[in-house]
Amino acid sequence: MSQTTKTALKELQRLDGEIRVAEERVAAFGPLLDDVEGPVVQLDTEAGVTRARFQEMKLDERRHELAAEEKHTRSKILQERLLTVRNVREEAAVTAELNMVRRTLEGEEQDAMTLLDQISKLEIRLEEQEASLVAARADVEPRRQELIKEREEVGTEVAEMKRRREEFATKMNPRELQLYQDIRGPTGRQAVAELTPDGACGHCFSVMPLQIQNEVRHGDELVRCEACGVILAASEPEGDGG
Ligand SMILES: [Zn+2]
Repeated sequence: MSQTTKTALKELQRLDGEIRVAEERVAAFGPLLDDVEGPVVQLDTEAGVTRARFQEMKLDERRHELAAEEKHTRSKILQERLLTVRNVREEAAVTAELNMVRRTLEGEEQDAMTLLDQISKLEIRLEEQEASLVAARADVEPRRQELIKEREEVGTEVAEMKRRREEFATKMNPRELQLYQDIRGPTGRQAVAELTPDGACGHCFSVMPLQIQNEVRHGDELVRCEACGVILAASEPEGDGG
């Protein structure tokens, strides 16, 4: 492995490092957006609860109405039957049932009235909550859009960085590139480190035997740190890109 290759590996690692930092910047927008959207989410949840309760009560009220209608019908049938009773005993039985049906009907109607009253109050509350929700949405929208736009911009930067990185990587030796990727692994750990002036691995700081130091500085072979496995590269003076 030539010094040029080692320089290329270092450059690749630098590009990967930049990509990671930029990706972290993209991810950091998540919590910021959550903060901005927090009040809206809260109001939306509250309005949702009221809306569900409202629907529930309307169904309940409808059930009472249906029950009342049924009692009405029954009451009419009983009233007609009263006209055709054949004896006092039959009359008493029909009258007793009619009275019972009428009392139940009153109860149903009363319950329906109470529910209607509650429903109209709930409807007002729901309208208020929905108005607050609309206002809160409008309030946070500019900041939200701003954050989304910024996130997209950083995302575009990341895409461009990745494109440049791929372009760079295609010029590298595939086997060396593969080794670099294997060391880096899914977590993106450091894959290349410079030898320190004292001859230690720049990643784990284990001092390398002199022979290895010489190979790293002057040899063409690829040398890895015996302790941590990173590819060792000679340090270069600033500006001497090799
Ligand atoms: Zn090491």
